[in-house]
This record gives sequence, C-alpha cells and structure tokens, in this order.
Amino acid sequence: MLTLDHHPTGRHFLQIPGPSPVPDRILRAMSLPTIDHRGPEFGALGLQVIAGLQQIFKTRHPVAIYPASGTGAWEAALVNTLSPGDAVLMFETGHFATLWQKMALKLGLAPEFLSVPGTDAETGLPNGWRHGVRADLIEQRLRADAGHAIKAVCVVHNETSTGVTSDIAAVRRAIDAAGHPALLLVDTISGLASADYRHDDWGVDVTVSGSQKGLMLPPGISFNALSPRALEASKGATLPRSFWAWDEIVEMNKTGYWPYTPSTNLLYALHESLAMLQAEGLDQVFARHRRWAAGVRAAVRAWGLPIQCADPALHSPVLTGVITPPGVDADALRKLIHQRFDLSLGTGLGKVKGRMFRIGHLGDSNDLTLLATLAGCEMGLKLAGVPLQGSGVQAAMAHFADTPACG
Ligand SMILES: *Cc1c(COP(=O)(O)O)cnc(C)c1O
Repeated sequence: MLTLDHHPTGRHFLQIPGPSPVPDRILRAMSLPTIDHRGPEFGALGLQVIAGLQQIFKTRHPVAIYPASGTGAWEAALVNTLSPGDAVLMFETGHFATLWQKMALKLGLAPEFLSVPGTDAETGLPNGWRHGVRADLIEQRLRADAGHAIKAVCVVHNETSTGVTSDIAAVRRAIDAAGHPALLLVDTISGLASADYRHDDWGVDVTVSGSQKGLMLPPGISFNALSPRALEASKGATLPRSFWAWDEIVEMNKTGYWPYTPSTNLLYALHESLAMLQAEGLDQVFARHRRWAAGVRAAVRAWGLPIQCADPALHSPVLTGVITPPGVDADALRKLIHQRFDLSLGTGLGKVKGRMFRIGHLGDSNDLTLLATLAGCEMGLKLAGVPLQGSGVQAAMAHFADTPACG
C-alpha cells in the first residue's frame, strides 16, 4: 500500500476505469512551467487543445473545457440548457445514470427515470444494470408527450458502473421518429477516446466528458461539446448559472482564452494526449481497446464467472464488470488483491455493491500489464476460495498471442 513513508517496488496497477494510468509522456508534459493564462503564448495553446478536442468529439461546434471533474460538466450541461421544473427523460443504466438523475432533482428539474424492470435470473441483479438504453422505450415515452413537456433526454454512453455501452445513434433516431424537439444530452465521460463517439453525426446536443479516463490525463478537467441547438436553448434557459455559463467561455475561447484561470498544466497534458491520439489514429485507438476488452472477457469466461454486460453487442471496450458468485463479497476480494498485489480494481457501485468488481482496460496499458492485472485477479480469486473453471490468464494469453496487435 502506498503511504507517504512506504512505497512498494514497481508500478502500482491502477486498473480502475478511471482515473486510468497516465503515460509518462503526459506526466512530463505537465511538468512544464505554468505560464500566464492571459499572456501571448497561452492563446495558441488554448486554440490547439480546443481544435484537437473537436476532432475527438467529432464536432465542428464549440467544446467548453472546465477546471472541474466530470460531475461539474454534468451540471454545466443541465444548467445551460434547462429551466426550473423542466421535465427531463433519463434512463437507468447504472450508478452514473442514477447520480446524474439525482443531480437533476437537486437542481430543481423534474427527471423521469426510465428503467428496465425486474431482476436478472442468472445473477439476481437488476436487469437495467446489465443492459443498455432501450431506445424503443424512449420513443414510446416521447410519443406520449404530445405537449412536448420533456425538454431533454439524458443518457450515459459508456456506463462505467456496469461495463455496458448504449447506442446513441439509436436514441437520436428514437427522438426523431417521435417527432419530438427534446435536446439529447449524453455522458461519455468514460467512453471518449476509447470507444467510437460522434457528436455531430449522432445529433447529440451536449456531450459531457472528462479527462481521467480515455484521454489518459489526471483528473481535473472536463468538457461540454455543444450543438447549435444547445447554444440556442441556452439563451432561453433560466436555471441559475455563472461559473458554468457557456456564453462567456465560448466567446473568449474564440481567441484561445478563458474568463477565469484555466488548468494550465492539465491543458499541457491534454495537448500531449491529443498528439498521441492523433498520431495513433482514433480508429486504431478504438480497435486497440476492443482487442484488450475481448482478451479480458476471454479470461472472465475461462474463470466461469458472469460478465456483467449481458448483451454481447454492447460490451464496453473500456472496462469489464465481473460478477462474483453469491456469498463472495467482491469488495473483500478487491481489498485482498490490493493488499497482496498492489492492484486497484473498480468497486461495485450502487445496486451492485459487493456483487461485482470492475477491471479497467484503458489508459497507459498494454497486453502485458493487462495479463498481470488478470494474474492478480486470478490469484486473488483463488485466495478468496472462489472456484474457477479454468485459467483466465491462459485464455487471455492465447487471445493476445493469436490476435495481431492493432497497427
Ligand atoms: C467517472 C464518471 C463520472 C463522474 O466523473 P467525475 O470526474 O468523477 O466527477 C460520470 N459519469 C461517468 C459515466 C463516469 O465514468
């Protein structure tokens, strides 16, 4: 365990689905001297990182960068587009969707939380926490809203608490098929720069993201990608906002500056991350994550444990949720693995607390760090007395050896 006076040898294995392991290149970029955020060089940096982010979000429209965690960018998306008491349609895909819904309530909105009812026969977990957004249910609900009381549909693209992705293009099609004017707000805090994402093509009005997941940065900055309709809606929206207000940010960003002090050193890091992603190519980046995810899933299947995502088409390329057998406390297992092997795994959140753990396969990882991660899991599972059908490490080795690396 890392304390101020005791450092274990070797690198800590930070295999949680964010913060992800930060490449040394990015850490070095961050160590450059902080410059004057109103000075002559700063504008060039600001313009470069915004242009780079537009490529990552696949948008031609403004992207606001906040010195805040992803939660701040969630709030920014809501307060810039909505007014007190507005009805918003949200979808329960897991813990992060639930937190966003709670935030909407606290802000004085009227969220309606659609969810897939019932529990899953195989695991006893809530059905909605093993599947993605059901666009058909959204369409049905919007068709019933003839008076257009619902002002926004809010969904999570990569539900980090479950390892399930959702089809955002299908949600846009559902809104259009219902002929409904609601805005589409999407959280891809953990999907961006690891999973395919297209702000403009998918007709998203506000995309929310953060630094510490696919972008491989430390925590601390977050984003709102905007659409012209979102900007238009912000003019009439009356929820109180000041720090989060897009108007001043978007205006000052035109010259690469911010209304307040931005996180200069995290912007250096972002600049480096964008250069790395551009050099590799986004399609390669996505293929790399899919390949890693398939290797990790091969391991979980070999152990004979259920993968939380029950829909093979929706497996997250970013993380895999592993359900522990009844009676095996997944948090006690995680603690054991951390103590013995200096490996951090993601905890079960909300309704699946203690029932599952999450393996992150994003950030500064490679085949061998993932194999070591799986070895830590496998040893921990054995030490905890969990009966395993076979060796997940062997299965993942076979997968990685037999599947050519991307690029
Ligand atoms: C990490 C995460 C958040 C929360 O972001 P913070 O940076 O912790 O505020 C929200 N939604 C999703 C899907 C996430 O993965």
